[in-house]
Amino acid sequence: RQAEYRELRDRVAVSADGQRVTLLMNAGLLVDLPQLDQSGAEGIGLFRTELQFMIAATFPRAEAQERLYRSVLEAAGDRPVTFRTLDIGGDKVLPYFRNAPDEENPALGWRAVRLALDRPGLLRTQVRALLKAASGRQLRLMLPMITELAEIDQARRIIMREVKHLSRFGHGLPLALRLGAMLEVPSLLFDLDRLMASVDFVSIGSNDLFQFMHAADRGNALIGGRFDTLSPPFLRALRATAQAAERHGTPLTLCGEMAGRPIEALALVALGITSLSMSPAAIGPVKAAILKADIGALRSLITARLETGATDHDIHAAIREFVDTN
Ligand code: PEP
Ligand code: MG
Repeated sequence: RQAEYRELRDRVAVSADGQRVTLLMNAGLLVDLPQLDQSGAEGIGLFRTELQFMIAATFPRAEAQERLYRSVLEAAGDRPVTFRTLDIGGDKVLPYFRNAPDEENPALGWRAVRLALDRPGLLRTQVRALLKAASGRQLRLMLPMITELAEIDQARRIIMREVKHLSRFGHGLPLALRLGAMLEVPSLLFDLDRLMASVDFVSIGSNDLFQFMHAADRGNALIGGRFDTLSPPFLRALRATAQAAERHGTPLTLCGEMAGRPIEALALVALGITSLSMSPAAIGPVKAAILKADIGALRSLITARLETGATDHDIHAAIREFVDTN
């Protein structure tokens, strides 16, 4: 198998019926970077900047942040990199940073962009480091845990102030700045058109979106396999998102763990999500599945089941059977 995947490394992912799929990798530390070449990823779809903060003993200094971002961009060369601004709080704890009073529900608490907007100094330092590191090339910035669109505007104002500041002091700036939002809080599912119109790209954080839609803690083993990521309600949410992205011409990626599981990846592509970001080790298996797949037939299979009231674990089983027998 490993040898088979190595052979696929330099092939683009195109399904048997001609659907092109972009396969990106998730990363967060310097040690992940060699995987860019080894996995054949077309870029980094999710760079989790909080990992540098989580392994440090104190807040990393601006220079250390800039150095990491520069190394990432150098390793990526012409390939795109999407940097997510700090996503701390919830399941991502910084031992040296005590989040407000103890929270009863940290996943629903003071985290990610909420914390960034309340402590803009952290965001400003990080954005400045990113802008400097990306001088002369494109910078893609992505905001985690967006719940309402006003948060995007507030973050954008902070980011643009840093752009102005750097240009006033004669620093080189990125050639282009693209600002995206993660869709991982269900409120946005009911504001999809305005979301798609407000940003340059959207990335579905399916780990959190699934956790919040199902009220099921993503880290709790007792309920780990209980709900199906290919259940009709979740698939309808993903399909509506893909359709809204299409209406607005807004690039859409999905960067949660399900992107790296072949059966689920095929379902996502069939629903119209044709850019997937996953752990590097998953790229080979997902690419192998796509190359063999008839996406059009899978789309019909899923659509028919969504219309006829399939029950929760049906669709997963049906796709698996389809893949095994074709
Ligand atoms: C997600 O929530 O799906 C995601 C990609 O982000 P994280 O797993 O880092 O929360
Ligand atoms: Mg998340």
